[in-house]
Amino acid sequence: MSYSEIDDLIKTAGKKIGLARDEITQIAEPQRIIAVNFSVKMDNGKTKIFKGYRIQHNNARGPYKGGIRYHSEVNLEEVKILAALMSLKTAVINIPFGGGKGGVEVDPQKLSTNELKRLTKAFARSISDVIGEYKDVPAPDVNTNPTIMKWFRGEFEKITGLNTPGVITGKAVRDGGIKVRDEATGLGGAAVVREITKTLLKQKPENTTVAIQGFGNVGNHLAHHLEHLGFKISAIADVTGGVEHEDGLDYHKTLKHIKSGKKISETCECSVHGPSKDCCIVGAQEVLERKVDILIPAAIGDQITPANAGKIKAKIIVEMANHPVSAEAEKTLGKKGIIIVPDILANSGGVLASYLEWRENVEGKKLEYNDAVEYLTKRMEKAIREVQKVAKREKVTLREAAYIIAIMRISKSLSK
Ligand code: NAD
Repeated sequence: MSYSEIDDLIKTAGKKIGLARDEITQIAEPQRIIAVNFSVKMDNGKTKIFKGYRIQHNNARGPYKGGIRYHSEVNLEEVKILAALMSLKTAVINIPFGGGKGGVEVDPQKLSTNELKRLTKAFARSISDVIGEYKDVPAPDVNTNPTIMKWFRGEFEKITGLNTPGVITGKAVRDGGIKVRDEATGLGGAAVVREITKTLLKQKPENTTVAIQGFGNVGNHLAHHLEHLGFKISAIADVTGGVEHEDGLDYHKTLKHIKSGKKISETCECSVHGPSKDCCIVGAQEVLERKVDILIPAAIGDQITPANAGKIKAKIIVEMANHPVSAEAEKTLGKKGIIIVPDILANSGGVLASYLEWRENVEGKKLEYNDAVEYLTKRMEKAIREVQKVAKREKVTLREAAYIIAIMRISKSLSK
């Protein structure tokens, strides 16, 4: 995905709701771009310079909100895209946050734990001026986790001298995090899938087949919740490949074998309901082309492109990964009548849970686990219904409708 794709979608939505060109530019462009170079002492005693970014895209609706990723390919363009998606996501789901994103260009696998800790603290120092509970609230993203969040918070609090658990979300429960956070994106996705099965497919979960690409945090929790709701998960794959069974896999058996160290593609004979059913091994890309009702890309971006769009057979695609469908591919899918539930709506369960964590930290509003699950499910259902309503009224796609809602909400806050 390129930033110009988001820019185009923002412009189209802005024009549709009658915003002036300046107002659209104000929403499309990041408010602040921070690029830092900072030094870290390595275990061999030498000092190494690392490059980091924090993009504060928009804070009209509340503090900037978005993860920090550590990856060797982190770059300004990517962080800019992800920051804009966060502004849109928090607006669609209607929580009082804006959008931001950060990253460090580093391969964390090549660092020792102590080096990773020093790098996190050095990055926290270099952006501490612009971070804060009510300014900008980072969270984990690719290759960052609750331990890294704890180090970041520790350094920030050392600098400010204040106890501010809400400066970062995605913390471990013992450090002020909340239990539902880990599963929240998958849980939110499952609520969306249930709602569209009812309203768009007009069928029951038991008669609805699903294929999932990606079996990490999002894919795993999503599969768990979909199985619980009665959906037939007929194919699952991760980067190493996967399995398919048209009558539905036994997800729990599959998971048990994966946990015992097997690859998904090695779980075939154990993963079907009953011994007589056939199970096939599928590749990481092939899983996208299965004949199912709902296809869920939950791995990485740019998985459905003009190269494979013509081969997609699902009726609906639910984007759990960020931007898994390219703009060009979307045109082909649209001609085939395939409906796409956009990422800024489908995967916003994670940031919704982050909001609950932050609210508990800064306002002391605590929700028990079951109440948090109910809150999250209801908010996701409300959001998909709102998007469907606007899509119908404006005769646009669900993605365009989600952008219209987001831009409308951001522009309202900007004009206050
Ligand atoms: P993860 O690292 O836990 O899991 C990624 C999964 O994708 C793994 O199973 C991996 O094997 C698989 N994968 C990687 N490359 C692949 C390929 N080429 N083909 C097939 N499978 C491949 O990541 P995650 O946290 O589950 O996030 C998945 C996606 O969801 C990402 O795009 C992420 O940005 C997005 N997302 C995550 C969250 C969250 O809360 N974790 C929130 C919003 C969006």
